[in-house]
Amino acid sequence: QAKEKGKNTVCFYTSDINDRLVHYQETTALLRRAINNNGLKLHFQPQIDLKNGGVSSCEALLRCFEDGALAVPPAVFIPVAEKSGLINRIGDWVIDAACKQLRDWQGTPLANTRIDINLSGKQLADPQMADRILQTLGDYSLLPAQLGLELTENELFGGDEAQIQQLEKLKNAGVYISIDDFGTGHSSLVYLRKLPVCSLKIDRTFLHHAMENESDMAIMQAIITVGHRLGLGVVVEGVETNEQDKLVRQLGCDKAQGFLYARPMPASEMLAGIGSGHFGNNPAQS
Ligand code: C2E
Ligand code: MG
Ligand code: MG
Ligand code: MG
Repeated sequence: QAKEKGKNTVCFYTSDINDRLVHYQETTALLRRAINNNGLKLHFQPQIDLKNGGVSSCEALLRCFEDGALAVPPAVFIPVAEKSGLINRIGDWVIDAACKQLRDWQGTPLANTRIDINLSGKQLADPQMADRILQTLGDYSLLPAQLGLELTENELFGGDEAQIQQLEKLKNAGVYISIDDFGTGHSSLVYLRKLPVCSLKIDRTFLHHAMENESDMAIMQAIITVGHRLGLGVVVEGVETNEQDKLVRQLGCDKAQGFLYARPMPASEMLAGIGSGHFGNNPAQS
């Protein structure tokens, strides 16, 4: 088909590559401005303990603002940050900001709420990463167990021995380690027993398929059973409906996260929400 279109096809591809290059350059420029002008902010999404409705942990999700407005979503800027190498500076900012937030929550109803940050596999390529995280926790007088790290399956399974050792060091110190988006990658359940992790986060597409499809439901049940038998916590993400909430309770998940309970929000709203006992009971208004 490309041959049939001849000259025009070449033009089409050229402009496509050009568009992507412009997009890449614009996004890196935007990220640099955000880094330099306090445009990076963490939002937080509660994870609901399904046994008691409590919020013993939340996920930190990075937001990029420009001129007071959200500029570009993480699904777009994180891959660009990884490609450009900016992820290291951004990742360090996230670690510091999460620890600062944990310190600010001391003495509030969120004092015992762990913050889980997302870690890019690239960050673990830095051989000092584990030590720097532990150092930052110490600088803010925090316990390692107050912080959690989420890594996707592919980042974990693709990691070399040195990266796994860094995770081991963090886990041994008490940092909580989760496999993010579990079920979508190319991993084998067999590896689970070798990896230094504390919990599995089942990907939301999995939950959505399980609602419609018996075999996906069976696989999800199996993941939960194996996870529990290995002593891992099981969290499900992307719970949007009461039906899904009912299902994940029936299947025995430990925690759930999703728009049904609350959307990611600024720290101040987390504090207001926990004070009014709002999470886990009512669907979020926004
Ligand atoms: P993730 O770690 O899997 O985070 C969960 C994503 O699902 C978040 O998107 C969250 O807002 C969204 N979500 C939560 N509940 C629901 C729901 O009920 N329905 C739907 N449809 N979505 C829900 P967000 O904040 O746009 O982040 C997207 C991805 O960007 C994250 O996926 C993570 O991979 C990455 N990311 C975000 N912040 C950071 C960060 O600080 N560092 C790194 N390396 N990656 C980050
Ligand atoms: Mg995550
Ligand atoms: Mg996830
Ligand atoms: Mg993800």
